Amino acid sequence: MEELETYHIVWLIILLFANHMFIYLFNLRTDKQEVVKKVYGLEPGAEQLKEEFRNSLITAPIHPLLILLFVSMGWLTTSEKNLSTVITSFFVMFWWTEFWFYASHRAMHTKWLIGIHKEHHRSYITNPMTAASFSLIEKTIFTLGIVGFASIYSHYLPFSFNGLCIYYVFYFAVTVLGHSNVEFRNARYPFSLMGYFINAPSYHAMHHARYVKNYGLVTSVFDRLFGTRWNDYEKVLERAANGKPLEKLSERP
Ligand SMILES: [Zn+2]
Ligand SMILES: [Zn+2]
Repeated sequence: MEELETYHIVWLIILLFANHMFIYLFNLRTDKQEVVKKVYGLEPGAEQLKEEFRNSLITAPIHPLLILLFVSMGWLTTSEKNLSTVITSFFVMFWWTEFWFYASHRAMHTKWLIGIHKEHHRSYITNPMTAASFSLIEKTIFTLGIVGFASIYSHYLPFSFNGLCIYYVFYFAVTVLGHSNVEFRNARYPFSLMGYFINAPSYHAMHHARYVKNYGLVTSVFDRLFGTRWNDYEKVLERAANGKPLEKLSERP
């Protein structure tokens, strides 16, 4: 067993609460906004919100618990010698998780594995809490993929625990935005260089409403590569940005 240091414990506590904290902050901010630009002009039902909250309480400890297990067993070895290791580890995690999320997400949309993923898709209209609503098995598989890869990597190259945890905080923040059903980008965003690669909230809202395509997490790189991107995404985003949300799940702009 490896001895844990104080900064490990502090990070694990942060990761335990980070997702709920971002959900709370997002709701706090939009509650005060006069105009909220919805992607779909529909609201989730009270039962959905309750169910999502229940799921979020069950799955929130999974990330910190698995990281704790991998570090304390010595499977994930970390080094905090310099800032470049922190930055490299962040980007290694970013790109690996983009790939892992796309691959595992697509696999879970096949008839053999959809049972694992269907809890997340009970939410056709998303809201920030949907970002934390998964089945226990889905969350465990997803996290094992991230922490497992980090562990293998850490045996060959220097890997930073701080870099991993900063990535996780980033992940929690962007997935809350991605499930918010609120568009904060302008109508021209998808045509910018950043918008070409980085998804706006409309992107994942379409995945939930239509059930297929737009499988990517933060970027659309793998959806473009494998032809699984909804090509009316720009139009949906434009409608949302102009304050004219789609009124039906089946609507095509
Ligand atoms: Zn899905
Ligand atoms: Zn989702």
